[in-house]
Amino acid sequence: MASRTYRAEAIVLKTIDFGETDRILTLLTRHFGKVSVVAKGIRKPTSRLAGHAEPLTHATYQLARGRNLDVLTGAESRALYRALREDLYGIAAGWYIAELADRFAPEKSPSAPLFDLVESALRHLSAGYLPALVCRWFDLHLLDRTGFRPELGRCVQCGSAPTEITNAWIVDAGGLVCATCAPGDTHGPRALTVRALKSLRYLLVSNFEGASLLRVDEPLAAELERHLRSFLQNVLDRDIHAARLLDELARMRRPAPATT
Ligand SMILES: [Zn+2]
Repeated sequence: MASRTYRAEAIVLKTIDFGETDRILTLLTRHFGKVSVVAKGIRKPTSRLAGHAEPLTHATYQLARGRNLDVLTGAESRALYRALREDLYGIAAGWYIAELADRFAPEKSPSAPLFDLVESALRHLSAGYLPALVCRWFDLHLLDRTGFRPELGRCVQCGSAPTEITNAWIVDAGGLVCATCAPGDTHGPRALTVRALKSLRYLLVSNFEGASLLRVDEPLAAELERHLRSFLQNVLDRDIHAARLLDELARMRRPAPATT
């Protein structure tokens, strides 16, 4: 008979309070995929596990098999990403990563590459790397590791390799569309500049250490974010909640426009 308890290295993606003092945690585990577990009595002030049951905690959890949900019985922290929690923009970026991981990870389908991607993104956020760069690197690799990699090499309509001019980014076509196939989309929100295309290709083939060398000014960051967000939303067929929070924070950071 299988053991009633097991250990799982995991990152908490989200939590929902339940009953008087319980909480349901959505865990992304390295070996068992995404699982929901119940933490009984976790909201009592005396709970010794409370510190391990917050979103964006990386720990090794001791779990007992339950009739419906497995039950949290112990935890050993691996990383609390403290630095990430000290900055509103950093924590919003952490929520963004957790929300996308939750949406893209199927239930109970093990994927160590996906776990490693989430862990790496949170670790680099906590180390103080630019949230916009960590998030764009994460976006592309998330799409790649879950089978939704955008086409960056050839026009999805005619198959030709793009020349060094502004082309188009058409998400429902699957990515890059050349200027000949989409002449009306080389201006405006779907315009894909040469440097944005090169940056997307570079991010896709780079580990984070490589990605962190990319120089991203504000217009490029805005273009990469626009294209990847529209691609993700098209795959998910819905908005990304944490992205709205990031937008709001970015607006607050910008200096107010002059009124003269
Ligand atoms: Zn074409």
